[in-house]
Amino acid sequence: MTKYDLGIIGAGPAGFTAALLAADKGQSVILFEKDKIGGTCLNKGCIPTKTILHSTDLFNDIKNAQNLGIVANDINFDFAKAMERKNKVVDTLRNALTKNLENKGIKIVYAEAKIIDNNTIGANNEQYKTEKIIIASGSNPRELKGLEFDHKFILNSDDLFEMTNIPKKVAIVGAGAEGIEWARIFKNIDCDVTVIEAAPRLLAIADEEVSKYIERMFKVRKINFKLSTTVDKIEDKKVILSNGEILEPDFVLVAVGRTVNIPDNSENLTIIGDADNKIMLANFAMQQAKQAILGTNIENTIIPSVIYGTPEIAWIGKKEQDLTDGTYKKSVFPIRALGKAHCDNEIEGFIKILSIDEKIVGAHIISKEASAMIHQLLVAMENNIEISKLKDLCFAHPTFSEGIYESILGL
Ligand SMILES: Cc1cc2nc3c(=O)[nH]c(=O)nc-3n(C[C@H](O)[C@H](O)[C@H](O)COP(=O)(O)OP(=O)(O)OC[C@H]3O[C@@H](n4cnc5c(N)ncnc54)[C@H](O)[C@@H]3O)c2cc1C
Repeated sequence: MTKYDLGIIGAGPAGFTAALLAADKGQSVILFEKDKIGGTCLNKGCIPTKTILHSTDLFNDIKNAQNLGIVANDINFDFAKAMERKNKVVDTLRNALTKNLENKGIKIVYAEAKIIDNNTIGANNEQYKTEKIIIASGSNPRELKGLEFDHKFILNSDDLFEMTNIPKKVAIVGAGAEGIEWARIFKNIDCDVTVIEAAPRLLAIADEEVSKYIERMFKVRKINFKLSTTVDKIEDKKVILSNGEILEPDFVLVAVGRTVNIPDNSENLTIIGDADNKIMLANFAMQQAKQAILGTNIENTIIPSVIYGTPEIAWIGKKEQDLTDGTYKKSVFPIRALGKAHCDNEIEGFIKILSIDEKIVGAHIISKEASAMIHQLLVAMENNIEISKLKDLCFAHPTFSEGIYESILGL
């Protein structure tokens, strides 16, 4: 029987990154996947949501582009077509990834894997011997008591990818990253959206000033939201809220995070990615894969977070509410003060940078291109570059990145 150097359970970002890195080191690798290569991120998460979001953002831009000189009458949104494109994007990326894994000599077994012992994996009624096992089995949508998924009226994000018709009214439980992105998607295509959040603010994981700004944006866009509110019960497709209100949506999306998925007998084995239940982001999953295979020290790695849509929201490091001793400096630069923001008709948002002793300790951006800009600050923060050095830099004009520079000047 062949004995592999490494057996990996799960071919999401954590598993496939670990497999590729180990193969590059010359290890023989066997990778088990019970569903599709690419995991949640590629098939039911990051990539499909951003693809659909792009279609709906574009639709929304065109609807509102008359004063930019664009005359477009009778425009409609074809959800089925947008889903078709989403499927193509996902298939293209999955095929490329699968080829890459195969070209590196990684053996892929399409089956549910079980841990027999620390050196044996069972799948397809066979046993596979491995020197080491890594668990990268990801997570599943979290259910709430009383709001169990029936996949018809009470949905999770996986269910939405099967949708082909535009709903009229949508209720979203949870105002985290997932809830905010889906609220934006549905509002772009003119649905009546209500977000129900148990916490007293939207995107409770973010800086408080960011949450406040999102509330203002939601009000302007007429996205309804109920804070410090929960769903008491659902009766006959009526959603009864803790504040007594009753909603009658076409469906309820429950977006309240994820629960880990770990095979039995995984104790003593290395667990990476969502299954490790630390930070459930694809970029963190890949970082943990680097740690597992290359020994990269990730203890102090800065992990950026991004929420997509118009405008994007991104952050790194400390939030202002975490800085309690008052020794920090803060600079907030409004996006509407940038020439490029007016050129692009995207004047919403701000760039906020927090520093202590001449070093960046946190940054929070709401802006077009926030997902790109945050990495400029990430590089500066990760390398401890002093604020005075950053002030000597020359940024191109007109750009959104000038906002980074202007914000730094304020420190
Ligand atoms: C709607 C949505 C949007 C998201 N957007 C973003 C985003 O924009 N940016 C971001 O960073 N993150 C995003 N995420 C989170 C991201 O998808 C996850 O953090 C990431 O996929 C975790 O990677 P992973 O490899 O740990 O697990 P997964 O991607 O979940 O992969 C685990 C794999 O293991 C397989 N598996 C499980 N058990 C077994 C078994 N016993 N045998 C064989 N195979 C098994 C599963 O089928 C799955 O393919 C999003 C998630 C969702 C749901």
